[in-house]
Parts: sequence; structure tokens; C-alpha cells
Amino acid sequence: MSLTRTTCPYCGVGCGVLAGADGTIKGDPDHPANFGRLCSKGSALGETVDLEGRLLAPQIDGVSADWDSALGRVAGAFGDAIRDHGPDSVAFYVSGQLLTEDYYLANKLMKGFIGSANIDTNSRLCMASSVAGHKRAFGTDTVPGVYADLEEADLIVLVGSNLAWCHPVLYQRIAAAKEARPDMRVVNIDPRRTATCDLADMHLRVAPDGDVALFNGLLSYLAGHDHFDARYIDAHVNGCHAALAQARATDPADAGLPADALDAFYRLWAQTKKVVTVYSQGVNQSACGTDKVNAILNCHLATGRIGTPGAGPFSVTGQPNAMGGREVGGLANMLANHLDIENAAHRDTVQTFWNSPTICDHAGLKAVDLFDACAAGKIKALWVMSTNPAVSMPDANRVAQAIANVPFVAVSDIMARTDTGDLADVLLPATGWGEKDGTVTNSERRISRQRAFLPAPGMARPDWRIISDVAAAMGFGTAFDYASPAEVFAEYIALDAATRPFGRDLDLSLFADADYAKLIPQQWPRDNARFFADGKFYHADGKARMVPVTAPALDHAGLTLNTGRNRDQWHTMTRTGKSPKLGAHLAEPYLEIHPLDAAAIGTAHGDLVAVHTDRGRAILRSLVSDRVAQGQLFAPMHWPRQTARGGTVNALVAPLTDPISGQPALKRSNGVSVKP
Ligand code: SF4
Repeated sequence: MSLTRTTCPYCGVGCGVLAGADGTIKGDPDHPANFGRLCSKGSALGETVDLEGRLLAPQIDGVSADWDSALGRVAGAFGDAIRDHGPDSVAFYVSGQLLTEDYYLANKLMKGFIGSANIDTNSRLCMASSVAGHKRAFGTDTVPGVYADLEEADLIVLVGSNLAWCHPVLYQRIAAAKEARPDMRVVNIDPRRTATCDLADMHLRVAPDGDVALFNGLLSYLAGHDHFDARYIDAHVNGCHAALAQARATDPADAGLPADALDAFYRLWAQTKKVVTVYSQGVNQSACGTDKVNAILNCHLATGRIGTPGAGPFSVTGQPNAMGGREVGGLANMLANHLDIENAAHRDTVQTFWNSPTICDHAGLKAVDLFDACAAGKIKALWVMSTNPAVSMPDANRVAQAIANVPFVAVSDIMARTDTGDLADVLLPATGWGEKDGTVTNSERRISRQRAFLPAPGMARPDWRIISDVAAAMGFGTAFDYASPAEVFAEYIALDAATRPFGRDLDLSLFADADYAKLIPQQWPRDNARFFADGKFYHADGKARMVPVTAPALDHAGLTLNTGRNRDQWHTMTRTGKSPKLGAHLAEPYLEIHPLDAAAIGTAHGDLVAVHTDRGRAILRSLVSDRVAQGQLFAPMHWPRQTARGGTVNALVAPLTDPISGQPALKRSNGVSVKP
């Protein structure tokens, strides 16, 4: 059996996979992200590609239909809404599971042909705070480092990142490096004692959202102990004085850690030149997520620990193609190819390149605002692609009601029944992993191919083609006349060339003459390239910015709820839920609760408990453990309403967002009550 070289569809590590139509799955030994390794989810991919539960034909109002009728209905509904209410009356909600070619075309259709920027994505829930923090500090959304830095570092600081479960192959790479170099140190900063602590020399049980106080304290310590790199700051950084003044006004004790633990961490950081700070959803999914990102970046900029082997801040994305999505502008506040909606020259160049009738000139609705607009009756037609917001968004019950409130809803998905698909007027059957071709970008800027090794089932079509077909039905066929994803990719690379004079970080020239069929995994701008070692940033003056950030006042009264992932499930389980092996790990929705809280509530390990907020309710199995601190609860977010009959966890979460990034605060909900 010949095996196809492709890429895992789950997390942002972006592991190479060798896959066969008989269900064979192996790690690709030649892929530079994983060198043959796979985690439990990747290894079980062969168990998830059967056709049970698949959507195999379009449906209109719950009845199977042909493609022409379904496309006509979608195009007609969007056209009517735009004619009667304007382009901002329609919206797309897309996904970090889409391939770059799909994402590029969805963005092109909405921004260049419909003329609105109302396209947002579940990537807003993943890394929008990192994007905003990068842009404030660097002038661009640039990940400076590469995975090899994790092996070259002498100190790895993990912040809000359960790497062992959520990016397991990166965890394995660090574990192997630490075994080879026992002097390497790992510090894990997390309110929970997760599996990642097994690797850590030091676990700092920071208070939820205490990260700004922690890193402001570090900045102040570095200044006070003469660890700033004055030469680097003078040449390459602005804003140091203001950022330091704000840091000095912060009480590091607000991080919720004992003074000796703070001192030990600060000393270790200060004395180690090669420091990589890896951060993920515990930083991003917060009402102060962007400030947390900049608090971390400030420390790296002040010490010149950036862009050199083994040193730098490193945002790792949750999703397989959150990075590709941001590259093609798949967020409501981006244009395309790292260009800005607010910049008239950028808009003109993109519109000319697309030869489009219009171009959006203002940012669209970010995820939470988008569904608020649905609830308020402002959105008349909505198209959800490859994601399940009725389960994955905060305040999920209200989001489901908001979707139901939209006069016309289309959903493209691989599955016939999802909580969001059940609300659709039209269902469009999409091909899934193993059935479609395209590219993804992982957390270290590496573009890899996904390749088909299975036939498209039933009437399913790849997303890039569904989008092109809808565009054609709306009268935009000439600009969406693609025969293959290779043609879409070539156009994306050509847009990069056309916009090169703007001089931003994104540089895809390496891919200009690439053979799409044989494309090997490569980083932009070139393999192993790190940004900012030369001190050249992308603000107009060429310098980076240290940003003054204020630690939020934290309310520690009552129980707080932290939501997240399990090791063996992915998002709302449409794929991983098929694997008996993966389901055996943690088989049902649960609530981690500290023994003292459990005793106070009167519940024992294994009991069912009712968890309430003013948003909703969920029935969960109590898992009594001191892995969570007293006063804190943890629940995984995976189970959809269809299987979690006691209610889905995100229904409990208030739709608070970071004011800069718009990323929801999924890690700290207040006002939680638990009853036996
Ligand atoms: Fe897939 Fe991520 Fe596991 Fe790699 S680490 S096999 S990309 S889920």
C-alpha cells in the first residue's frame, strides 16, 4: 500500500503524516515539525475517516437536494440581503480547520466582491490576542522563532499552555531535549497542575489572569538588577521608559504567588540568556489577553532575547491553520497577506489585483459581536463553514438562539448533524481530511500540504470549490474560475508578489515557482529564519515597541471556571468522537474540583453535579482533585448538546472579550455555583 504524505488536521504543531486508504497512519519521519512522532489524536486518524454520520448531499430545509438548487438558494438569499440591507447585513463565520486556499477564497468573496469585512473565524477564539500583541510590539503579526529554538533554549517558560495535552509533539520534543541536556530548565506557569508539570522544574500556580502582574514584576526585576540590554534598547526599541514605569507600579504579589517562588523564577530568567517563553490559550483567551502578550514581549525586548537561536517569545496556535488564516486575512480586522483594511494603498492594490467591484474599507464584526448582531436581527444571511459555534462559542445557548434568529443560514460541514447544522436552512456537504487538497501553516510559519488519499464521498465538494460555486451563482464567476486548489495557491503567491513593495514581514517568494503537487514543508521567508535578530521591526521607524500594561484588579471571591481541552479530543468531537480508542481516555463531561470545595458543596468524586451560571447550566461528573486550586474549577469544552444532554460547558461562559483583540475570555468565568 502506497502512503500519501499529508499533514495532521488537528493542532498548530502541524505534524507530517503518512496515510493510506486502508487506514494506515504513520508519523512522517521527514517532516521537520515532528520527525516521525505523532500524538494519540494523530495516531488515531485512521479511525475517523469512515462515512458514518457524514453529510453526503446538499440539503434544503432538511430535504436532500442537487447542488444547483442549493447553490441558487444560498446565492439568492445573500443577494437579496445585500440588495435590501447592504453588504454589512451578511456574514461568514469560518474556521481554522479550513485550508489556506479555502480561507483565501472566503476572504476574497466577502471583502472584495460582497464588500464587507464581516468574516470572522473560530481562530478568533485561538490566537487573536497574540496577533494584536505582535502588532503592537513588532508592527506586524510575526512569530519570531522556530521550533528548533525549543531544543536550543536553556530555559523554557510555558505560560497558560498545557503542552503535554494540547501540543503533545512539541512537548515530546522538549522532553527529548531535556533528557539530552539535563541542565535545561522548564518552568510551567499555570493555575492548574496539568500533565505538563511532569516536565517542569518549577510550577508557578499563578492566579487566573495574574500573568500581567507576574511579567510586569519580571520586567521591574530585570531593570532593578541591571539585566536590560541597553545597547539593544537604544538601537531597536521604543517605549521602554513608559512600560517600565507601569511595571514598577505593579505589585508582583498580585500574581498570587509567594515571594520566594517569584524571586526564584525572576533570578532564573535573569541569569539565563537563552530563554524561550511559549504561550497559548491561558494567555490568549482572557479579557486582558493582549496585555498579557505584551507583558511577555516587553521582557524579551528589554533584554534582546528575541530572534536568536534558543531565545524569543513563542505563541503556539491551537488550530491546524490559524496561521494560514491570518496570512490570507481571514479575520474581520485584516485584509489579505498581512495587509491592513484601514490602509487605502493596501486596499487599492488588493482590489486592483482581484479586479473586484468593491473592497471593504472598515473592519467587520469580530466573533462575539458577530453573533450579537445575529441576535439583534442585523444579520440577514449567515454562512458558517467547518465549525460549530453553537457549541464552541461562549454563551453557547444564546449563540444558538442568535443563529436561529438569522433569516437565512447556510452551513458547510462534513457531518450531517451538528448543533449548528441543525439550525441551517441549507447544508452544503464538504470533503474532509484525507479527501481534499490544500495547504496549512503551522505555528512556526511552515507551510505544508494536505493531500487527498480517499475519494470524495457522495456529492461532497472541497470548500474552495463550494465557495467558488456560490461566488459564481452570485455573478462573480470570472474571478472565481479555478480548476484546482493549486490555482488558488498560485494566485495567493502572486498577490504576495504584487504587494511586496509594502515591505511587510510576509514573504512567500520561496513558493513562487513551487510545484504544488510536490510541495515540501517549508517556512516563510525561508527555513530556520528567525525574525528580529537584526533589530529590524515593522513600525514606521523600524523599531519595536514596549507597551505599558496594567495588571487587572482580580476578584478572587467565589468559584471561577476555567474551560479547555482534553488530551484525546478535538473541539466539538465531530471527528475524534468517532474513535473508541480516543473516547476511552476521559469518556464523559466532567468538572475538576478541589477536595475542600467538593466537601463544602457536599459532593464526592464520581458524583454528578449541576454547574450553574446566569448564562446556563451543565450536568457534569465531579472529578475531585487538587490539580485545581481551591476556588477554581476546570471543565473540558468538547461535548456538544447532542451527546451532553445535561448541557454544553460553553453555555456557562459569559461572552467577555479582550477589548483590543476581541478574543473571548474562556479561561475565567465568575459567578459559578455547583450543586450536588
Ligand atoms: Fe496532530 Fe498536533 Fe498531535 Fe501533531 S501534536 S499529531 S499536529 S494533534
